[in-house]
Amino acid sequence: MNRRYPFVKVILFSGVILAVIVGVGISSVKGEQVMARLAEMGVKQSYDDSFKIKLGGETIEVSGVDEFESQVNKNIEQAEERDLTGKKLVALTFDDGPEVDSTREILETLKEKQVKATFFMLGIMVQRFPDVAKEVVSEGNEVETHSMRHANLSQMSWDEAVADLTEAKQITRDITGVEVEALRPPYGATNDMVKDVASMPMITWSVDLYDWRDRDAGLIKDRVVNASYDGAIILMHDIYPETAKALPWIIDELRERGFEFVTVKELAGKKGIELKNGEIYRDFTTS
Ligand SMILES: [Zn+2]
Repeated sequence: MNRRYPFVKVILFSGVILAVIVGVGISSVKGEQVMARLAEMGVKQSYDDSFKIKLGGETIEVSGVDEFESQVNKNIEQAEERDLTGKKLVALTFDDGPEVDSTREILETLKEKQVKATFFMLGIMVQRFPDVAKEVVSEGNEVETHSMRHANLSQMSWDEAVADLTEAKQITRDITGVEVEALRPPYGATNDMVKDVASMPMITWSVDLYDWRDRDAGLIKDRVVNASYDGAIILMHDIYPETAKALPWIIDELRERGFEFVTVKELAGKKGIELKNGEIYRDFTTS
């Protein structure tokens, strides 16, 4: 690991920066001073020595200073592992699931290769395979909605579209605990009505691997290598075994070519793009 510029790595993770500053404070002050210091840093704590701190985007409760310091160190290590400096960034996205075998195989690959992806789930599939949907979330992936039943929202009446998206969001929330924040409209089909009804950022894609049409791992591989670029959103489907089979190769090959993987919301953040309701995003390029 390149340790010449540790701070550059740390800068990527504002939560960690906060933790580092607080951590330094803790090693030099005690008791009430620690509390005062934490309050000053905006870190919530209670009076029973139990701290609630925000590290790397997660809220963690620790029982004391030792545990706090070990959490800080762990988060710095994780930040270093996911060093994105100088990398071309892409978001891998999976639609139409969750399924059982293919989604789980994809989750295994993502875990093994330390990649987080974005899953645009269908409400009916979340209902059908709730355990898999929960696994996608617990592995740290981003979950968004792809509507309830994959019907074309742009051909619905206002009331039908409202009913569809309300149900999809409700089911995803009830089963996975995730409040979805983005819509991938089925078929990428949108119009002014869909924009208004969705009232969320709409994420389409810029690299289509046509895995749904060809069901051919070889073709999927050629396409991903030829079409990927910094800021691209790559469309795949986690319901096909061919896609699951191609994924390890896709990740290795793109890494070989200087790419690293982030979720859709992370990609927007890294590129300095603030997601707006009703806007359509096919990629996130800085220019
Ligand atoms: Zn779809």
